[in-house]
Amino acid sequence: MYQSDGGKLKATHLERSAYLYIRQSTLRQVYENTESTKRQYALKKKAVALGWPEDSIIIIDNDLGVSGASSGSREGFKKLVAEVGMGHAGIVVSIEVSRLSRNSSDWLRLLEICAITDTLIMDEDGIYDVNDFNDRLLLGLKGTMSEAEIHFLQARMRGGTISKARRGELKRALPAGYVYNGDDKIVMDPDLAVQNALNLFFKTFRRTGAAFATVREFRRLDLKIPKRFLSGFRKGELAWNPLTHCRALGMLHNPLYAGIYCYGRQQIKKTVSGKKSFKMPVESWHAYMPDAHPGYITKDEFEENQKKLKENAYAYGEDRRKSPPREGPALLQGIIVCGRCGKRMSVRYQKNCSKLVPIYTCMRDLIENGAKMCQIVMGEKVDEEISKLLLEMLNPLAIKAAIKVQNELKSRKLEALSFYRQQVERAKYDMEIARKRYMLVDPQNRLVATELEAEWNRKIRELEKLKDNYEKKKEDDLKEVTKTVKSDIMKIANDFAKIWSSANVSFKDKKRMIRLLIEDVTVKNNDKKVIASIRFRAGTCKTLFIERKLPICEVRKTRKDIIRQVDELTENYIPSEIADILNRKGYRAWNGNMFNLRTINRIIRTYGIKRRRKRLRDKGCLSLKEKMLETNLSQAQIMQMRNEGKITFYRITDRDEYLYEPQDTCKYLAKIQP
Ligand SMILES: [Zn+2]
Repeated sequence: MYQSDGGKLKATHLERSAYLYIRQSTLRQVYENTESTKRQYALKKKAVALGWPEDSIIIIDNDLGVSGASSGSREGFKKLVAEVGMGHAGIVVSIEVSRLSRNSSDWLRLLEICAITDTLIMDEDGIYDVNDFNDRLLLGLKGTMSEAEIHFLQARMRGGTISKARRGELKRALPAGYVYNGDDKIVMDPDLAVQNALNLFFKTFRRTGAAFATVREFRRLDLKIPKRFLSGFRKGELAWNPLTHCRALGMLHNPLYAGIYCYGRQQIKKTVSGKKSFKMPVESWHAYMPDAHPGYITKDEFEENQKKLKENAYAYGEDRRKSPPREGPALLQGIIVCGRCGKRMSVRYQKNCSKLVPIYTCMRDLIENGAKMCQIVMGEKVDEEISKLLLEMLNPLAIKAAIKVQNELKSRKLEALSFYRQQVERAKYDMEIARKRYMLVDPQNRLVATELEAEWNRKIRELEKLKDNYEKKKEDDLKEVTKTVKSDIMKIANDFAKIWSSANVSFKDKKRMIRLLIEDVTVKNNDKKVIASIRFRAGTCKTLFIERKLPICEVRKTRKDIIRQVDELTENYIPSEIADILNRKGYRAWNGNMFNLRTINRIIRTYGIKRRRKRLRDKGCLSLKEKMLETNLSQAQIMQMRNEGKITFYRITDRDEYLYEPQDTCKYLAKIQP
């Protein structure tokens, strides 16, 4: 209990809420260090003792298990700063200053805001008024020391690790193919099967020159790659798995396989958006020792492999990855998901008359496991339909209707809310009556007094429950669409169509706009349609059925019934005649043109229709020479007989080529065709 608050505590502080901030750095501490957590919650009692009513003490414990080294990911701390900034807080309570922040700049900012809003700070040692010079100095020191403490702690741990690594003595998890021997030296795995598998892996890469090809080769021959469990109940055990692309790359990039001991290939750096892991160049590694242990490949081969892999990576192109918007015209790049396997799809472009046509492909399984390509979706039509949909949805009329519905919903919610408030009022009244009854009863009458007290307690609990319920409902959704917001939205809707169809807007910007509206698009090829399910940022979904664009070979395909007719007609007619017959019947080619000699000939050739010459020859018809031999007549004589119609003959092509009926002495006229 505080003997005195040194006159720092004023009524104005008590009018506002007390904020109790609770944090443990790691989840482990949350579980193991329960004593400290209890101590932190106990501070609430101190705040009560100072005069804050229990219901105006707000506990912020969202940050349990979050480190205090920066405010970036600490939602609770951000909330605290916001509340203090708005002047809602009379005092900020925390077990010690380091719980609030391990980062001086965050800490000083909080102090600054506390000074402006006249907010007190309390820890286990006492109360501080930031506007008091001495207190401020003390708080500043406490913050700085807490930051220094964590810095020294980290530096000591980190320094130890790095110097150990520099000596090559840092023991780390080893990849498959290596183990530590009794003297903690890295040696090749004594299991010969493991060694052979790794040797084969590097040999296959040497031959194929690509990680992907190596994976495919391993899959084709059903070869497995070893993996040693590094932790868990199977620690030390060996497992044989199919090779994946990811694993292959990991092995090819690992210098350990070339006998190089290294540390610091990836290093963590601070950036604006928090800490990030970066791949470092060799010069910046903490340790680099070639020939430290036996290698599966030589150092030169390793470097050669790195070069090869880099070249291969260029060939894959930039648009392949899940990536920020790029310049290409594929609108859905980076947000398109395969409807068959759920993986992200990549983009390819096809040049079609100087225009780039996007093609979405699902190749993850192909690359990763050497399996089959999952699906290809022609992007032109899909992109078109999606931009049409966006224009439709952002149409001013549609938005006006949406705002109207929203208002309607809000007024309904308000009605419901007033109902909940009335419930709270009634419960308050009931509680008050129960309290009065209890107060009025004769304390001697124990039995009745206990009964009444229980009743009172019950009413209090009921009231609390209803209050909670009401608060929750109130918070739920009362975000109002104000008039200015409404007019802003309408303006955007009006401009959107203009901006969208403007030629000056780059594809990159369009893609950015799409990403503001759409979370992702899942596509799946159906028989004749592409099914595209669009998930909007607002939470709604929409499914489009888009006519599938057929590949050109499919488009040019001649209809089956036409092929059948050509086949039948070839029995009796030459190609130009067949074209005439089909045209007269109203048939047209794939592009809407009339049939002609050439197209019919192409159909006969493409679909392997038995030619007229072959059909007649099979029936025994004779060529001119054979006819001459059979009849012992000269060529001129036969031609004359033909012209006069004294023998049976057939025209077989549009050129003057004929076949003759054998042993034909009758004076048949040549068949006259319609
Ligand atoms: Zn797929």
